[in-house]
Amino acid sequence: MVVTPGVSRVLAPNPSLMTGPGTNTYIVGTGEVAIIDPGPDIPEHVDAILAAVQDARSTVVASLVTHAHGDHLPAAYRLRARCGIPIFGHPDLADVDRALGDGDEIRIGSFDLVALDTPGHSDAHLCFWNETGHLLFCGDLIAGVGTVVLGETPGSLTRYRSSLRRLEALGPSVILPGHGPLVPDGLSKIREYLAHRAERDRQIVDVLRSGPATVEMLVQRLYVDTPAALYPMAARNVRAHLEWLAEVRHVQRNGETWSLLPDA
Ligand SMILES: [Zn+2]
Repeated sequence: MVVTPGVSRVLAPNPSLMTGPGTNTYIVGTGEVAIIDPGPDIPEHVDAILAAVQDARSTVVASLVTHAHGDHLPAAYRLRARCGIPIFGHPDLADVDRALGDGDEIRIGSFDLVALDTPGHSDAHLCFWNETGHLLFCGDLIAGVGTVVLGETPGSLTRYRSSLRRLEALGPSVILPGHGPLVPDGLSKIREYLAHRAERDRQIVDVLRSGPATVEMLVQRLYVDTPAALYPMAARNVRAHLEWLAEVRHVQRNGETWSLLPDA
């Protein structure tokens, strides 16, 4: 399915609470094409990607991977084994054929892309920026619907915010996310995401005004409309916010309990 000139999408059959309707695999370029985020290792999905390439009479020059999660990377290994398609990705990904650093340019025929090192959702995460069309392939940094899960390593929210600010400065017109529909007003979406994180900081501080709380208590207070199956992900995000609030000296941790600092 063509989503915007020079870009088509194959939706992987892996819908879930975490992946929404499934992973978006994008085919970019004309004639010579690249596959952005081949997706999960589901044979029917790999067949669908190759069929789309064949229908367009195109040649695949590379798989470009945003990050190593199981719903984005594994089909790249399958495509390489089946058709010899090389894998381009972050240097921390296992067994890539070309390690992409921040600012590296990738030419796919006449389609230009630049790799952007954008940690926060995972430590090793790239976005791909098409300057000509102001298109941003954002992996899991931004979702078409809802928000995203932050990385597990300490400081992930700090990294996530700086990645978003960097993308904001680019001023993308269209965002093509790893999950959910294409975002037509990319810049507004990035600003909405930054505002959402600031709002979450405020909500956490507000709850702590009535006394110290654990991460679990905060999740139950703040994620009332979230299915319980997603609580572990919500807890990861709350923890990331608490770490950031501790970094800016608003809260402190005592064992499993977090409390406001006196002049917060
Ligand atoms: Zn992910």
